[in-house]
Amino acid sequence: MPQAANVDQAEVRKFEELANRWWDPNSEFKPLHDINPLRLGYIEEHAGGLAGKRVLDVGCGGGILSEAMAERGAEVTGIDMGEAPLEVARLHLLESNLEVDYRRIPVEELAAEQPGSFDLVTCMEMLEHVPDPASVVRACHDLVKPGGTVCFSTINRNPKSYLFAIVGAEYLLRLLPRGTHDYARFIRPSELAHWARDAGLAVEDLCGMTYNPFTGVYRLEARDVDVNYLMACRRDA
Ligand code: SAH
Repeated sequence: MPQAANVDQAEVRKFEELANRWWDPNSEFKPLHDINPLRLGYIEEHAGGLAGKRVLDVGCGGGILSEAMAERGAEVTGIDMGEAPLEVARLHLLESNLEVDYRRIPVEELAAEQPGSFDLVTCMEMLEHVPDPASVVRACHDLVKPGGTVCFSTINRNPKSYLFAIVGAEYLLRLLPRGTHDYARFIRPSELAHWARDAGLAVEDLCGMTYNPFTGVYRLEARDVDVNYLMACRRDA
């Protein structure tokens, strides 16, 4: 890399270290890498393909899903409020040779800026980290074109999800760092469906994503939405 006067190499190195961790399939981001093919297939199916589609990935983080969608031929914008993950994501484009437009902007602000401009909006594993998830759902509705698809994924709220997503994942199996998730912020499918309908999104599908702690295998299981789940919605035309 050429030496530029205005670049702090120590900062650059920090981002390089972070980038390694986000994209390290054996790091604390392993679960996101492991579920990526499953959710990509789900999204592709419900969006009717990705090639040529204008896609927005809300809460994109280091870009694991954004890149996968770009690889399938979508024109992807990824937004996040963390600067470090976005840097990691931008850095990784140099390795993958893909194109994604990464921006640090609140989803509500982007919705005011360019309403109705995406064929597909994805918002994965993000709602359970936000104080007002219903507002994110409304913004996702506003951002997608009439008739377009919005896909969410999050974690259900019940004793089993507490046991699996917190006790199991963070304490017993240590798949995720302790404190990654706050049980009170988990979202029941009925709550998400309610927010979606209130926003003008019709719920088209609800699908569980299960983890087998003995085999380490994740699967889509239409009927088991007890812990992790995906929801596909369509904006009223
Ligand atoms: N969606 C990605 C990353 C999930 S991790 C994936 O599934 O692979 C959760 C991400 O949500 C983090 O990158 C975090 O920075 C982001 N996030 C948390 N609160 C947010 C907010 N209010 N607005 C935008 N992004 C947010």
